[in-house]
Amino acid sequence: MTRVHDNHPWRQTPPPPFFEETLQEGNVVEDKAHGQLVITYQGPCPCCLGQTVSKTPLTVIPSDDQGIRGQSAGQPFTVTMQCACVTVHPDTPAGMSGCGHEWEVTVR
Ligand SMILES: [Zn+2]
Ligand SMILES: [Zn+2]
Repeated sequence: MTRVHDNHPWRQTPPPPFFEETLQEGNVVEDKAHGQLVITYQGPCPCCLGQTVSKTPLTVIPSDDQGIRGQSAGQPFTVTMQCACVTVHPDTPAGMSGCGHEWEVTVR
C-alpha cells in the first residue's frame, strides 16, 4: 500500500477517512514526572499520514502515583492525541500545527 501525506485543509470537515491500521505502527510512550503523566504518540497520523510526535499530559492523583484521574491503576485507558505533523496544512490557524484532527490511542 502506497501512502502519501494527505495535505487536506486544517481540521477539514468532514475529516478524511482515518487509517486506523496506521496507529499500530506508532509508539505510545508513558513518561511520568513531576505529578504528571505525559503520553506520547510517535508515528503516522491516522488522518493525514504525516509523521507526528503528539504529547498529551494527564494529571496523576497525588495520593496514588499509579492512578490516573478517572482511571483505575493498571487498566488500559484511552488518550486523545492531536496531530502535530511538520507539514503546514492549508488554513492552519496561527500557533496551531498538524492537520487539526484528533484520535484516540490506548495506553496499556
Ligand atoms: Zn494529521
Ligand atoms: Zn499532516
